[in-house]
Amino acid sequence: MKILKFGGTSVGSPQRMHSLVELITDGKPKIVVLSAMSGTTNALVDISQALYSKEHDEAGQLIAALEKKYTEVVNELFSSETSRLKGFELISTHFDYLRSFTRDLFTVNEERAILAQGELISTALFQFLLEEKQVASVLLPALNFMRINANAEPDMEYITENIRYELNKYPGIELFITQGYICRNDYGETDNLKRGGSDYTATIIGAAVRAEEIQIWTDIDGMHNNDPRVVNSTYPIAKLTFDEAAELAYFGAKILHPTCILPAKNENIPVKLLNTLQPDAAGTIISSENQAEGFRAVAAKDGITAINIKSGRMLLAYGFLRAVFEVFERYRKPIDMITTSEVAVSVTVDNTDDLVNIVEELNEFGTVNVDSDLSIVSIVGLFPADKPGYAGSIFDALRNIPVRMISYGGSENNISILVDTKLKKQTLLALNKGLFGLE
Ligand code: ADP
Ligand code: ASP
Ligand code: MG
Repeated sequence: MKILKFGGTSVGSPQRMHSLVELITDGKPKIVVLSAMSGTTNALVDISQALYSKEHDEAGQLIAALEKKYTEVVNELFSSETSRLKGFELISTHFDYLRSFTRDLFTVNEERAILAQGELISTALFQFLLEEKQVASVLLPALNFMRINANAEPDMEYITENIRYELNKYPGIELFITQGYICRNDYGETDNLKRGGSDYTATIIGAAVRAEEIQIWTDIDGMHNNDPRVVNSTYPIAKLTFDEAAELAYFGAKILHPTCILPAKNENIPVKLLNTLQPDAAGTIISSENQAEGFRAVAAKDGITAINIKSGRMLLAYGFLRAVFEVFERYRKPIDMITTSEVAVSVTVDNTDDLVNIVEELNEFGTVNVDSDLSIVSIVGLFPADKPGYAGSIFDALRNIPVRMISYGGSENNISILVDTKLKKQTLLALNKGLFGLE
C-alpha cells in the first residue's frame, strides 16, 4: 500500500483534478490524501475572521464569492448532468452550513469546523469525479479515524486501530480517498493539524498502515537547496535523510509541514516529494539511507522572538538554567534556539502567546530583553564534529551579515543563526553563494 498526498495546487482546478485521476488509476493499492483546492483554506480563515469580529456582511460576501468559485468548478468538472446535480447539492449543503454562522454565536470550535470545509468539499467532488469515470474507489471520512490527543499530537494507537477498521470494511477496494489536515481532538470535536497539515495526515496514515512508501505531490520538483520563494537560483536535492528533512521542515521549508517527518521516520517509511506538474521529474527521496557529509540546504523560519535574560546570579550558579526553562515548561512553550554566556542566556520562541506572563516570571531572575521580527536561518546537512571547515565556510559566507545568535554543535545536521527578518533575503543569498556557489 502506498500513500499519495496531493496539495492545493494539485487539486486546484477541474483540469488538475482530471489529471489526478490519470495519475492515480494504475490499479495499484493506495490511499490518496487530498488538501482543499488552493486558496480555499485562506478564504475560510478570512471568513472566520470576519465572523469573529461580527462583520456579518463582510462574511456573507466572502462566502458568496467562494460559493461562486465552486459553482464554476462543478460546472466544469463533470460531463454528465447527474454528476453536476450531485456536485451542486454538495456545494449548497456546505455553503448553507457556512452561512448558518452569520446568525449564530461564533466560537473557536466553530472556526475549526469552518476550516474543515475545504478538504470535505475537495474530496467529495473528487469522489464524484471517480464515480462518473467509473473508477472503483471509497471515500474514507478522516474524522472517523484521525485524532489528536490533549497535547495536540496524533493519537497513533487510536488512528491505527480505526483506520484499519475503516479499510477492512471494503475488501477488494484498492483506491481510497481521504481528507488531509482535518481530525478530531481529545473532546471529539472537529479540529486540524495546523496549516499545511495534509502532509502530516499522509505520514500519520503511512505509519498507521505501515505503508511501503509515502508520496507528497506538490507544485515543485522536490526539496530545493534554498527557499525558491526568496532566492532565484536553487536546485532540487535528490536524497535527504529523515533527520535532514525534519530539520528543514521544522525550520521553514514550506514544502513539508513542520513535524510531518517523524511518523515516517519512526516506521522507516521512505517519503518521496514529487511534482504534479512534472510527474516524471525525479524529485526528492527522504529515507534512512546515510548521505555524504556536506551542506544540503538552507531554510528560514520567520516570526521569531528572542528573549535574553541577564543575571549576575548566573555566574557559577547551577540551577539557574533549570529555573529559566521551568517557566517555559509551565507555559508549554517550545524553545527553538539557545545560546549562553557566563552572565546571560538567550532563547528564541516562534510565537508570542503568553509572552507577557513569561517575561514577568523571568524578571525575577534578572534583566529581560525581548526582540521581535527575527528569522532563524538553518543550514542543514551532515557536519561531523571532527571535520574542519564547516563553521569556516559559514562565517565566511556571512561576512557582511549582522548575526544575532548562532547555534552550532547541537546536532551534526543543523547549524542555525538568528538574523533580523529584513536581512533574511540577503542572508539566504549570501549562503547560496558561499555554500553552493550559486549567484
Ligand atoms: P501544497 O499546497 O502542495 O502543500 P505548499 O505551498 O505547501 O504546497 O509547498 C510547496 C511550496 O513550498 C513550493 O511551491 C515552494 O514555493 C515552497 N518551498 C519553500 N521552501 C522550499 C524548498 N526548500 N524546496 C521546495 N519548495 C519550497
Ligand atoms: N488546506 C490546509 C492548508 O491550506 C492543509 C494543507 O493544504 O496541507 O493549510
Ligand atoms: Mg503544503
